[in-house]
Amino acid sequence: MNIGFIGLGKMGFPMARRLIEAGNPLVVFDNQREAMDRLAALGAEGASSPRDVADRAETVMASLPSLQASLEVATGKDGVIEGGKVRRFIDLSTVGSHMAARIHGLLAKHDIVQLDSPVSGGVGGAEKGTLAVMVSGPKAEFEAVKPALAVIGKVFFIGEKPGSAQTMKLANNLLSATAMVATSEAVVMGVKSGLDPNVMIDVINSGSGLNTASRDKFPRSVLPRSFDFGFATGLMVKDVRLALEEMRSLGLNMEVAEAVGRLWEVVIREMGPDSDFTSAVQPIEKAAGVVVGSAKGAQAVT
Ligand code: NAD
Repeated sequence: MNIGFIGLGKMGFPMARRLIEAGNPLVVFDNQREAMDRLAALGAEGASSPRDVADRAETVMASLPSLQASLEVATGKDGVIEGGKVRRFIDLSTVGSHMAARIHGLLAKHDIVQLDSPVSGGVGGAEKGTLAVMVSGPKAEFEAVKPALAVIGKVFFIGEKPGSAQTMKLANNLLSATAMVATSEAVVMGVKSGLDPNVMIDVINSGSGLNTASRDKFPRSVLPRSFDFGFATGLMVKDVRLALEEMRSLGLNMEVAEAVGRLWEVVIREMGPDSDFTSAVQPIEKAAGVVVGSAKGAQAVT
């Protein structure tokens, strides 16, 4: 299948690479020339704008970092909406159900079908093709693109209602965000009382506290203090804010979500939007006066 791909960042690049390796001719665009060159080296054709991509491919995918970027790429000047060949736009970004529905409505006026298709599973999942791919939109269109999406992960049809896959994704990421800060608090509590964080993580991962932060994020990025898991704090905070908006628009007030949201606002204020989201442990360490160290276990802050 001839595919256009816009946004070749931490997630977009490995997804686009898998699509090429599976034999799909690719036309690509990114604001950053360097990202396009890396894909061109693997056989992709470069384009000069989202519109140029949409002039050359019936199916256009995007993996972009903000709601504004998705809106502009899809419906702005020189956007996908102006393309001559495009029939469907698949947004792999997390934009929330309201923005997805807005883009859906604007594209529909130009006979372009929008399938929203946020993904979960991180950079590792994108590289290995093991993402959870959540799709909403017309079922027939979903069936048409399912084989291509299967190259990047396990594909789930969520429903025909525009934006419903985004609601699914926000529920997932609220749990991921909660796991990260809740595990940080639990481990910091142990370290403060003198426990070895390595032993703590081993015990949690053999016990009922097991979660994605204890299983993946702590061993790979927190205990070694590398803070390089591959998901920016700014993106996590975007998702938590979107989840809270989603709840409020449904008339819900959820206490755990509100508390998690407040904690992530502290993280973005103290660590900055470009920090890796695993650095969420650091403001919690700072407040407790300890560091969750690696080899030697608990270390008091001097
Ligand atoms: P990223 O910042 O690494 O990549 C975004 C890419 O989009 C960059 O290469 C940037 O140059 C490009 N870009 C930005 N604006 C553009 C525009 N107007 N036109 C063309 N290109 C533009 O972000 P990422 O981590 O790859 O995340 C992308 C999306 O995937 C986000 O919605 C994020 O929430 C979601 N997501 C990320 C992860 C992860 O672990 N990183 C996991 C699941 C979902």
